[in-house]
Amino acid sequence: MSGWKDNIRQVVPYVPGEQPKIKNIVKLNTNECPYPPSPAVEKAVADYAKSDLRKYPSIACAELKDALKKTYPVTDDMLFLGNGSDEVLALCFMTFFNSEKPVLFPDITYSFYDVWCDLYNIKYKRVPLNENFEIVPEDYFVENGGIVIANPNAPTSIFMPLESIENILSRNRDVIVIIDEAYIDFGGSSAVSLLEKYDNLVVVQTFSKSRALAGMRVGYAMAGKELVDALEAVKNSFNSYTLNSLSQAAAAAAANDIDYWQDCCNKIKATRQRLIKELDALGFDTLPSSANFIFTANKNIDAKSLFEYLREKGIVVRYFNKPRINDRLRITIGTDEEVNRLLDEIKNYIKR
Ligand SMILES: *Cc1c(COP(=O)(O)O)cnc(C)c1O
Repeated sequence: MSGWKDNIRQVVPYVPGEQPKIKNIVKLNTNECPYPPSPAVEKAVADYAKSDLRKYPSIACAELKDALKKTYPVTDDMLFLGNGSDEVLALCFMTFFNSEKPVLFPDITYSFYDVWCDLYNIKYKRVPLNENFEIVPEDYFVENGGIVIANPNAPTSIFMPLESIENILSRNRDVIVIIDEAYIDFGGSSAVSLLEKYDNLVVVQTFSKSRALAGMRVGYAMAGKELVDALEAVKNSFNSYTLNSLSQAAAAAAANDIDYWQDCCNKIKATRQRLIKELDALGFDTLPSSANFIFTANKNIDAKSLFEYLREKGIVVRYFNKPRINDRLRITIGTDEEVNRLLDEIKNYIKR
């Protein structure tokens, strides 16, 4: 009886930050954009909804690819689109990491990477960040079955210069190196400029953060044609229509509105600078951020207790109960008003 239980796949899933139902919440826990998407998005979705929903989505995604080509130096056959960059990354792991040697990624990084490795039975090794929470390129000059690096890294917010990425790429020509650029628009420079030189590079980006479309689930990879063809073949062996029509329309509209996108990024960067400065005055030590979040600690404050205090006040940030980082909070950059509320409550906490 219940012998079927033996045949059920057991996995430990990734747990995303919560989406709590709190009135008047200041939600600074999942790195969403605090501003709405470009006004062009609403119109594009409404227009599409009126016309063509009875049809399957476009597989070519031509409109969205045309929009992306305005910003990135790539051709259609170098673009792979998916249902959020999580899906794009999952398909990259399935497609590119098929070695007996371990895949390498930092010990402190996006906690989905080890989940996908476990899902696909990919061997992996965590490479420790240095004491400043930086990636050490030389640590990746060892035999491996592939490399995945978030740049800027999460939750550290630190950007690794492109020269270091290039060092890693040039010393790993026989494996695929994935650079996950979910936060690249908030301060770093993209590795897309290295695609011409390195056929082992895959750059993954998302519409969820800087383009304010987390709910639409759109992500993309940029790589040489051979790698994109391999990704397409794997995807089409699983689900040909990963990216729905409304998401394609929304993402194309967002990608075409370059001014609005840059404006959002600039506002977030300005708010980030102010938040770091004000926290500094309160005795916090914040890592240098190139992302839309900060990773901060205060040696006089217990991070978990501050996290819980803020939550009671309706301000939700992220606390990771993990070695090396359990004295820190990851705080998404909100609007200026949200950040003011956060700072007020931190001051209240200190005053208690
Ligand atoms: C947010 C995030 C993603 C995934 O974003 P999607 O919403 O799935 O596009 C991927 N990598 C990192 C490091 C992220 O923080």
